[in-house]
Amino acid sequence: MHKITLIPGDGIGPEVTGSTVKILEAAGFKVEWEVVNAGSEVFEKTGVLVPDEVFQSIERNKIALKGPIATPIGKGFRSINVQLRKKYDLYSNIREVKNIPGVKSKYENVDLVIFRENTEGLYIGIEEMQDEDTAVAKKVVTRKGSMRIAKSAFEYAVQQGKTKVAAVHKANILKLADGLFLDCVREVAKDYPNIELSEVIVDNMCMQMVMNPSQFEVIVAPNLYGDLLSDLAAGLVGGLGLVPGANIGNDIAIFEAVHGSAPDIAGKDLANPIAVLLCAVHMMKFLGDFDRAELVFRAIIEVMEDGKHLTRDMGGNATTTEITQAIIDKI
Ligand code: NAD
Repeated sequence: MHKITLIPGDGIGPEVTGSTVKILEAAGFKVEWEVVNAGSEVFEKTGVLVPDEVFQSIERNKIALKGPIATPIGKGFRSINVQLRKKYDLYSNIREVKNIPGVKSKYENVDLVIFRENTEGLYIGIEEMQDEDTAVAKKVVTRKGSMRIAKSAFEYAVQQGKTKVAAVHKANILKLADGLFLDCVREVAKDYPNIELSEVIVDNMCMQMVMNPSQFEVIVAPNLYGDLLSDLAAGLVGGLGLVPGANIGNDIAIFEAVHGSAPDIAGKDLANPIAVLLCAVHMMKFLGDFDRAELVFRAIIEVMEDGKHLTRDMGGNATTTEITQAIIDKI
């Protein structure tokens, strides 16, 4: 029996996490959910965005499934997602990008995973105005940060039976910062002689991914490039609503979809639960329950191929409740 923190979140969050909970239950995944909440709705009631009990629950269970959270607009509100990544040193942002049969997309045979460094690079938030006409943003690359994301990518490649890792960089221009990142990936690669390392400059990578995405299996990238390539990759297989994400550190893992709280459709039973459900599939694999992960993934594919219970964003007219039941019926 796993104990997992569940953060329903804002907007469509309770609907899509609720759907996921029901489907995992139908698949026989043994879990005790510890439900705690954070976000705008909590803020309106309590004046805090992330109550202490959320941190305590994550620290106790070490694993969380999180719905989208709306960060209030305005100065003084830091993104909760960035806060959680920093606080728990969730250095690997992993996005599995795969064609789902039945979902229309421009490409077939896309099956790649992006390992984005999640804690440093240009996203450390050190910016200053040197004078009123000059803004400076610092990019920080460390040996520790680069070695550990590279190791995560290679370890994943071995575990999943992959044969290739592509390192993305711009070391021809950023000789020190991206040069260090690349050196670290090369050093880690020496410990994995059966995995082929390729080095791809980020601008060429954008073109290669659009021309022939199925040539890639595992991609490892510094923070900014990984962020951009992740969305590009999502576009290859049908968009953000279908792509899961995971933030993983040495101690704690938080699984969350990429999409936001979709206030325009919240509470209307219109949300597509697939992205959060795929997060849960990734989470079950992470916990070693490969059989149930496969069971749920197969059920999703069958519903997609069947095409009768797709939500509006996928071109159908099914409600969240109906697609949830259709997936349960296939299990
Ligand atoms: P959004 O992803 O919420 O919505 C963009 C569009 O996609 C909307 O039209 C929405 O209806 C649609 N959409 C998104 N998810 C969908 C789903 N599962 N099913 C069907 N349609 C879906 O992006 P936004 O409008 O820019 O952001 C809304 C709020 O979400 C903001 O407050 C933002 O801060 C927050 N947000 C949170 C996260 C997170 O917690 N991980 C991520 C992104 C945005």
